[in-house]
Amino acid sequence: MNKVEAITILSSALCNLSCKYCYISQDPRLKEVHRKLVERIRNEEFLSTILKSVPDPNDVKFLALWGLEPTLTLPAISSRFDYIFKTLPNLKVISFSSNFQGDSKVIIDFIKQIPRDKKIELGIQFSMDGMPKINDLMRGDGSGERIIRNVKSLILSLNEILPDMTNVRVKIQDKGTLSPKVLMMYKEDKELMFENFRFMNNFYSEISDLIKSSRILLTCAGFNQERPFNYTKEHGIAFFNMLRDLDELINKEDLKYVSLPFLSSFNRIAKYGLEFNNKQRMFTCSANSGNLCIGENDEFAFCHRDFFPENELTRKFVKEYYLIRDGQNMERRQYLTSCYMDFPKLKLEYIIVICKELARCGLIDKSYGDYNKAYVFAMNRLQEICQSTALQINASPYMYDIGSIKLFANGAEDYLLGKLVSS
Ligand code: SF4
Repeated sequence: MNKVEAITILSSALCNLSCKYCYISQDPRLKEVHRKLVERIRNEEFLSTILKSVPDPNDVKFLALWGLEPTLTLPAISSRFDYIFKTLPNLKVISFSSNFQGDSKVIIDFIKQIPRDKKIELGIQFSMDGMPKINDLMRGDGSGERIIRNVKSLILSLNEILPDMTNVRVKIQDKGTLSPKVLMMYKEDKELMFENFRFMNNFYSEISDLIKSSRILLTCAGFNQERPFNYTKEHGIAFFNMLRDLDELINKEDLKYVSLPFLSSFNRIAKYGLEFNNKQRMFTCSANSGNLCIGENDEFAFCHRDFFPENELTRKFVKEYYLIRDGQNMERRQYLTSCYMDFPKLKLEYIIVICKELARCGLIDKSYGDYNKAYVFAMNRLQEICQSTALQINASPYMYDIGSIKLFANGAEDYLLGKLVSS
């Protein structure tokens, strides 16, 4: 079996927000799931089960806490730090994402519990879609202001505690969701888009100024696409317009803290594209190789998303066949992921075929009817998907969603590629 270097624990089944685009239905039964998760964290069942299935616990360097709102169970996790660091002696990174609706004190208390003899990098991602007016559209009234307040207060508190905790580094990054609704608003009102990105630039500048420790690193991670990727040709054109106008704004006003989203993935293709067919692991997330996730009932998954299937079509398949329930049967995990990894051509050809068909019916730019162009496009797009996402959305790990193709192949991908070439 492959080395397992990363472990993800489903650590929370509750959330203090109710975002319109959340793909996890906030079912009242999740309260009971959450109670059980906390109990299993506290009595060490989670880690001991996972450790029985990991070939060598010394290989594990990354621990991700995932769930609806992972900060809700940080106290339970830190209460087991002694056990976690003893059983995973080479753990280097602990990461989680948060909506930053709660008091940041819970994160500070968590950090303070890290033993001083353990060198740890803490990765904290905050989800913010833009200025409060934009953010609150999908995430609820007042949520944007709370994020701003809590991110600032986290940084101020980190400034205070890190001088005494030289073993800890904290990486903070934000990630928003680019919803179709907001894209259309930007299309109607370019000034609104400018206002939003000026705001984001100022916000980043302000929080950068607050940082007083070289062990706090701040990065802007960009955007996720909104699941289940219901983007149309119109959204694709609006996205292209947004990129072009944003680029102009960045240059004209010298915005230092805002960059064009989705640009970085091209770099990997430009540098290592020749390895695409031989070293698939370089081009996709760890869910497909060295990551192991454990859920509520000791079931293993490739990706945490498998615990919350996104639609009725795939729910039965994922729940019944794709989660590994017989805990020790890691051989099955091995061949399921190998299957995905060993046939990149199949995935590439699927996207190329869809591009040709969409180009023929005018739903994407007609230039994608060209095989070579569609090939490069497919390589780049495949970096943003893993087999779990593909399976959840399309009921097959080899299929890429059509909405994303429409989003990127109506001018956006060409624009980003042009930027890369000219830089
Ligand atoms: S914060 Fe995340 S988990 Fe909570 S409702 Fe919003 S999208 Fe869902």
